[in-house]
Amino acid sequence: MSPPRAAVVSIGDELVLGQTLDRHGAWISDRLLSVGLETVEHRTVADDGHAIAAAFRELRDRAALVVATGGLGPTKDDLTREALAAATGDRLVEDAAARQAIEAWFASRGRTMPASNLSQARRPFLASVLANGHGTAPGLRVRCGDGWIVCLPGPPREMQPMFEREVLPLAAELATAAPVRTLVVHSFGEGESRLAERIAELMDRDRDPSVGTTASAGGVSARLRTRGGAEAVDRLERAAREIESRWAPYVFGRGEATLAMAVGELLVEQGLTLSVAESCTAGMLGEMIVSASGASRYFAGGWQVYSNELKHALLGVPQEMLAEHGAVSAAVAEVLAREAATRSGTTCALSITGIAGPGGGTPTKPVGTVFVGCFDRRRGGSTRRFLIPGDREVVRDRSARLALMMLRLRLMDLDETPLLWEVRP
Ligand code: AMP
Ligand code: MG
Repeated sequence: MSPPRAAVVSIGDELVLGQTLDRHGAWISDRLLSVGLETVEHRTVADDGHAIAAAFRELRDRAALVVATGGLGPTKDDLTREALAAATGDRLVEDAAARQAIEAWFASRGRTMPASNLSQARRPFLASVLANGHGTAPGLRVRCGDGWIVCLPGPPREMQPMFEREVLPLAAELATAAPVRTLVVHSFGEGESRLAERIAELMDRDRDPSVGTTASAGGVSARLRTRGGAEAVDRLERAAREIESRWAPYVFGRGEATLAMAVGELLVEQGLTLSVAESCTAGMLGEMIVSASGASRYFAGGWQVYSNELKHALLGVPQEMLAEHGAVSAAVAEVLAREAATRSGTTCALSITGIAGPGGGTPTKPVGTVFVGCFDRRRGGSTRRFLIPGDREVVRDRSARLALMMLRLRLMDLDETPLLWEVRP
């Protein structure tokens, strides 16, 4: 279902000929948008009954609200009334209240009413008349299928107050009958263009819901948007599930969910506990983990082992291993994770050791080289090597997220899933 929209018809020879600039179109669309109703089309039509009727017929199919201005006066070039009756297949009748109002308008000014003004009291049988407090031309409003056609007088000082009183509330109602609905699906560990390829046709610009992707330090998110009632919620849900299945296993949640929360839920579900040993991130991973409320159910704590001395003294990394492989190595990452689990008594542990830069890189281990270790009692230990782009803070942040993602994949028995920036041996 497409959202309800509006169309504006500006009627008058002077507008089509270029003698007067159509100012109503812009003014009306701007006001409609202020209550959430978008305009699909502006049409400017001459004082030609057939052209006006054709505009009504065509636009009512595309717009839930058609707002026309002009052509409601008493002269021969005022043809909007007849055109509205023709477009809706209706006949014109005299409206008693409208006649009285017009007669009263002249009487209050001490003028006699020209006979031609009586034509302004006529309305299509099914239409209702909108009172004009600033002139003689009443407006007209008619229900048309699922939508409405409203005709307003041309002079701005008559048109604008009538619009505010009669049209704006209707527009607001139409717009809120189809509120905007959004949903965000989050992923981490795969690049944006690959993820976009996987959902290519869902991202076509004319799709409903509309889908766009955004990339940030925290990963890639799909933003879904549609409008409508309960059926729109279903539509959004179906599209979100489709994206989730195509982005699996990189998807970790929706809306306010974080990767740390998603990992926490898996740990709780499986009755597991976690500790960490961090070198280059020095606390960032722990900080991310405890940002999820309820982390005390599974997180024990950890070690900040930045120097080789502490790696050795607190977690028993052998001096020879540090000398032979260097602190930034798979061997050290593996020991750190295993020892963290053993010494804290947790079932799982994560470790991070790397070169965040800008200094410290070597030809074999350039800046951005990070080893993540993941240990769990059931499956033992494993490590992954990454080459992470970005400045020092970005490398550290991404390292911590990659560690969380690695644990998540392991807890889902999907250890073989490749991760972004991974250097596979
Ligand atoms: P009408 O109701 O068609 O007789 O229009 C009365 C007058 O209102 C015109 O002569 C214009 O001066 C003004 N008017 C009507 N429509 C517009 C418009 N779309 N933009 C600006 N002025 C308009
Ligand atoms: Mg006119």
